[in-house]
Amino acid sequence: MEPRGDLTPLVRIDVGGTWVRIDSDGALRRTPAPSRINHPDVPAPALVDRLLDQLVSAAPDTGRVVVSLGAATDDVTGTVRGSGPLWGDWRMDRDLVGELRRARPGVEWHVFNDVTCGLADFAESVAHESPASVGYLTISSGIGLKIADLGTRTVKVDDDGLQGEVGHLPAVLPLEQAHLGRLPCECGGSGHLASIGSGPGIARVAAALGVGRYSTDWFRDALAAGDEEAGTLLATVTRPVAELLRTIWVTQPWMAVVGIGGGVVEGVGAAYRSALLTHLRDAGGYAAGSPDAWERRVRLLDRPGVDVLRGAQLLAERSLVVTRAQEVVSTP
Ligand SMILES: [Zn+2]
Repeated sequence: MEPRGDLTPLVRIDVGGTWVRIDSDGALRRTPAPSRINHPDVPAPALVDRLLDQLVSAAPDTGRVVVSLGAATDDVTGTVRGSGPLWGDWRMDRDLVGELRRARPGVEWHVFNDVTCGLADFAESVAHESPASVGYLTISSGIGLKIADLGTRTVKVDDDGLQGEVGHLPAVLPLEQAHLGRLPCECGGSGHLASIGSGPGIARVAAALGVGRYSTDWFRDALAAGDEEAGTLLATVTRPVAELLRTIWVTQPWMAVVGIGGGVVEGVGAAYRSALLTHLRDAGGYAAGSPDAWERRVRLLDRPGVDVLRGAQLLAERSLVVTRAQEVVSTP
């Protein structure tokens, strides 16, 4: 949608599984999200209705509202497909943007997937390096990846409007850890990347490895203190993430940098990147890539982390444009 004349006031909203953050003219407030996490007994369609009410009541009568939504979303059409933290395993096909426009027609609404918003913010921060292509990998309650082609300033998606739902790919595990392939995933599957590497996944791996002391606070503090058990746990949960990064570069060598962020990375900090680089350097073989190249490629976004509110605003301003993959390759 092309920008119209009057785009003020601007309201920026971040919908996560736990909180909804609303930034109205620089004043930021936070309310509990109407989510499956906060309301496990409320049916998913009713939770979506509550979210719509919350978004509409936060909107002014005119101006622009940009939303970063923690759900699998078709960023071309604004159709929402589903979200484990918000709505559990319920799969839907709901025109959220259309409903918002009908409820508050004087407002220019923009709704984007939160990983796309994180990508837009990260891409802006590395644009001065003129990379051909950048990625953003989020490791939090789930795992997601989005890649932008900065030559065309596009994010290419498939027919369903999706790209980079990597959390539900099978985790690549060494033979001695094959038993971790039985660990469940929020999607109902098992042995997925998110079964092992996401926030809930790390807790599952800790239990499987017999780390009885595990909590997120213990993990951070123990890593800082050089605790061996914590180091082994971090090495285990980052291994399949490193394999994902290697796959990205083998198939897409034009990728210049990948920013790695999200709640898990922000909590663990610099040790997370060190663990990834150790796996990537240890691979061996002529196709492994040089250590210097991995140092350049893998960026840690722990502090201050990505700003999805800014990312949503950048996408509304078309700093990146989400487009169907086949539309990009069509040439005269
Ligand atoms: Zn899964």
